[in-house]
Amino acid sequence: MTATIYYDNDADLSLLKDKTIAILGYGSQGHAQAQNLRDSGCNVVIGQRPGSANYDLAVEHGFEPLPVNEAAARGDLVNILLPDEVQGDIFRDHIRGNLSEGNVIMCSHGFNVHFGQVEAPAGVATLLVAPKGPGHLVRSEFERGGGVPCLIALGDGSSEETKQLGLAYAKGIGGTRGGVIETTFAEETETDLFGEQVVLCGGVSELVKAAFETLVDAGYQPEMAYFECLHELKLIVDLFYQGGLNYMRYSVSNTAEYGDYSRGPRVVTEETRAEMKRILHEIQSGQFAREWILENRAGAPAFKAMRRRDRSLQLEEVGLRLRSLMSWIDAKEV
Ligand code: NDP
Ligand code: MG
Repeated sequence: MTATIYYDNDADLSLLKDKTIAILGYGSQGHAQAQNLRDSGCNVVIGQRPGSANYDLAVEHGFEPLPVNEAAARGDLVNILLPDEVQGDIFRDHIRGNLSEGNVIMCSHGFNVHFGQVEAPAGVATLLVAPKGPGHLVRSEFERGGGVPCLIALGDGSSEETKQLGLAYAKGIGGTRGGVIETTFAEETETDLFGEQVVLCGGVSELVKAAFETLVDAGYQPEMAYFECLHELKLIVDLFYQGGLNYMRYSVSNTAEYGDYSRGPRVVTEETRAEMKRILHEIQSGQFAREWILENRAGAPAFKAMRRRDRSLQLEEVGLRLRSLMSWIDAKEV
């Protein structure tokens, strides 16, 4: 099955001419999508609570931010670009009652719609237009005349008309310049969670930690372990990004390539693959979503404890020191 991909010629911006787009949240995605849409000639209102840097930024960018409920009431398209873990409560308390028939609820990640936290009232459609990149890139690529590729998915209450609005929206943020891939709420949500848990965040972090600790426990200098197990990862990922695994293997030495084929499968074993399947089942069944929603309702105690624990790892202390000596890497501190 190959994906259907839409480009500029498949989308008609004029469909948004008489519509108001409410962008709720002026964070990473909100600030980028709102400005791109405005530059594309769309009518944009911002819903952003006062008293924060994001509110001031919206004002600085020439918007007049409204309370979330008022912006939701003004929007024909209401895009919820708040953190995923607060969307359910804010939707129930401030958004749902301000929607009217024919409105479209939008999002950039399907979690809350797919797992029933954001449920469209009768006559309201749900639509996902999700840039496959962080907000600052969505903005900077657009300004350069390009665009970050997007996903589009139709949820409950959607029609062909909703899809055309979604493609117009994607064009407004620059997405059709990079290509808009058609997917479903289930596929976007489940693959996104799986990717971040198994590879991008969970898998890679744990691999780096375990390898670093193995070297340090064996008596090697932590600085050496840091360079080998974390710092150099970027060089490898850059090669993946440019030309896949093949290009990485073409670029590294034959010794490294032989070590890759012969040792890699001993690190990621059949047992690891079985665990990946279990993690995927927990995502598909909604078990992970329930756990995360309840965790947040309880004030996120386990989450905060795990965050505290990992912030003080030796790997982080060593890294902080080494990065401060490498002026070119634009070192960040949390
Ligand atoms: P951010 O955390 O960057 O921004 C969140 C916005 O919501 C801020 O304007 C924040 O305002 C506001 N906000 C936070 N908490 C509350 C609250 N309790 N009540 C009212 N407003 C609140 O979010 P992102 O842009 O990263 O994420 C938005 C959506 O986009 C999510 O669904 C995410 O999954 C999705 N997404 C994000 C990507 C990314 O790279 N960041 C990529 C693709 C999708 P304040 O300053 O006042 O806290
Ligand atoms: Mg993601």
